[in-house]
Amino acid sequence: MDDLFPFQTLFGIFGWPARHSLSPAMHNAAFRALDLPCRYEAFEVAPHHLPDAVSAIRALGFGGVNVTIPHKQVVIPLLDAVDARAGRIGAVNTIAVTDGRLIGHNTDGEGFLRSLLEAGVDPVLRPVVLLGAGGAALGVADALLDRGVCDLSLRARSLEKIAPVAARLTSAFPAARITTDTLAAPIPTSVLLINATPLGMKPNDPLPCAVESIGPKSVVADLVYRPDETPLLAAAKRRGATIVPGLGMLLHQGALAFEIWTRQPAPVAVMRAALVQVLRRT
Ligand code: NAP
Repeated sequence: MDDLFPFQTLFGIFGWPARHSLSPAMHNAAFRALDLPCRYEAFEVAPHHLPDAVSAIRALGFGGVNVTIPHKQVVIPLLDAVDARAGRIGAVNTIAVTDGRLIGHNTDGEGFLRSLLEAGVDPVLRPVVLLGAGGAALGVADALLDRGVCDLSLRARSLEKIAPVAARLTSAFPAARITTDTLAAPIPTSVLLINATPLGMKPNDPLPCAVESIGPKSVVADLVYRPDETPLLAAAKRRGATIVPGLGMLLHQGALAFEIWTRQPAPVAVMRAALVQVLRRT
């Protein structure tokens, strides 16, 4: 047994629902690849049971857990501390047990950044248009601005809902130019366009924005990972753009959580293969 894991061999995801999560396949493949005696399970945690479930992290000796919808925000007061990014965006997707303390992290935005860099895209070099103003959009925006993006256009179907997101980001990153607009507003050419709405998950979903101005100098990323190539990505590809599918973010947010828990590099290729395999099956 590895010295790091004399007792803490249990990991998991708390969600409601959680049973369809792809994380167990990805993390268990990583544990097997590194010969770590650990297991990762999906736990269906109803909202009223969240405090008990969080207490159980310590009581049952978990090494760490992921949290997903609807617990990402409400879990924060139940933890001992959160890191700077999770604190700024007010959402946690990874809990680590450090010296008996429960520490909240958010790896979504950094996972997205890693997926861009892996695709050879440096987001700092171009304006960014971000569609959607939910939790994932906020995490991605924070990571991009922290990386040095200085021109960010936030787009959503409701300007009222997007205003507090823009205000929060502007106060954290006062040097950046952060503007708001509707989803229907024109997209400038040569931007990094990111879909952080769920549009594209269902077969008859409309495109989240107009695609006429997308061209060979554009980069289009989609957070939606099922299907792997969304209608937006397919349209962008036809127009010659570089595309970045959502599977990369899913992979890298998991790899970052794995690295926080185990303090060793994640076997990214193994985790990717596990994700691809389970997505093909479902
Ligand atoms: P969320 O908090 O519910 O936010 C969704 C955003 O999309 C909101 O701004 C919402 O606008 C907008 N929206 C929802 N339905 C829409 C529609 N029919 N037309 C236009 N806009 C619509 O969700 P989230 O957690 O941010 O997740 C967003 C997407 O990212 C989901 O598809 C999720 O699966 C994906 N995601 C992927 C990863 C990954 O690892 N690849 C990680 C996290 C999330 P309103 O506020 O007006 O409703």
